[in-house]
Amino acid sequence: MSILIYAESAEGKFKKVAFELASYAKKVAESMGTTVTALTVNTSDVSELSNYGVDKVIKVSNDKLTAFNAKAYADAIKQAAEKEGTKLVVLSSTTDSLYLAPLVAVGLNAGFASNVVALPITTSPFQVKRSAFSNKAFNVTEIETEVKVIAIAKNSFGLVESSSSLTEEDFNPTLNDTDFGIKVESVEKVSGKVTIADADIVVSAGRGMKGPENWGMIEELASVLGAATACSKPVSDIGWRPHSEHVGQTGKPVAANLYIAVGISGAIQHIAGINSSKVKVVINTDADAPFFKVADYGVVGDAFEIVPALIEKLKAFKANNA
Ligand code: FAD
Repeated sequence: MSILIYAESAEGKFKKVAFELASYAKKVAESMGTTVTALTVNTSDVSELSNYGVDKVIKVSNDKLTAFNAKAYADAIKQAAEKEGTKLVVLSSTTDSLYLAPLVAVGLNAGFASNVVALPITTSPFQVKRSAFSNKAFNVTEIETEVKVIAIAKNSFGLVESSSSLTEEDFNPTLNDTDFGIKVESVEKVSGKVTIADADIVVSAGRGMKGPENWGMIEELASVLGAATACSKPVSDIGWRPHSEHVGQTGKPVAANLYIAVGISGAIQHIAGINSSKVKVVINTDADAPFFKVADYGVVGDAFEIVPALIEKLKAFKANNA
């Protein structure tokens, strides 16, 4: 009755979140005296999972699963969990998994807790700490069903290396037409850039940038830091930046290790989506901007002076430490 994780990948490469889930599941498995099994979809080289404590990989290879399909993926996870006699399924909080997790829970007749931010408080009874109300509060949830599904909030646990000897097994779940009621016709994706979902660092900018022509320095700062770019809602509403960059309560959630906010006031709806980021740096001309109340580091000043200076300092630092 190993713990089952779904190790997410894109184009055959694991996402960072796969290793985070493995790290989490390994710690839980140690406390429960069991092992970790990972389900992978269309990923041929799974060896990296052995660095994060995964003992067994169940490999699903199916051309019909090339594009993410929540129902079919959920069905595959359910069948793998049943086959392994799994009592605990651990999923992430990526956009795909937010869609997937409730379907897996229903399929397994399992209790489900989302937004889990820490290791279980106890495993018997099974209690977890979760964030609630857009990260403004925590609650403790007890799952009483025999099979349990939990979804770990992004970046809440981190990566913990722990080597294991991995066994691999091919698995061919029974998928039928009802699993493919929704078809992905096409996928358009940004290439060559760090995505907000995968980013450790996010450089975000707001209306204080005055216009889209001034985003060059935001992109340059992001490039120097290996960061993703993001923006406030009005910026994408006006069309200065693509909607895919809109973060906040009604946009993408951000749980980065470092979030740099440039010319963003820090309205409650913006903060709600980014406040699980670990370190928040705010650059704003207005010392009374609400964002400073939640900032770890604040710079009161003009972005048009601060950002270019910061880029120069970072470039010099990188050159001296290459
Ligand atoms: P502004 O509020 O105009 O702030 C611009 C900031 O830039 C100011 O603080 C100013 O001091 C500073 N500034 C100006 N010039 C400079 C300079 N030269 N250098 C440095 N700083 C400078 N917003 C989101 O972001 N995400 C959401 O998901 C979201 N969801 C919403 C949902 C609802 C239902 C509602 C009602 C609103 C939502 N909003 C959301 C909008 C939110 O309330 C704010 O209006 C928005 O976040 C403000 O964007 P901003 O900070 O870019 O702009």
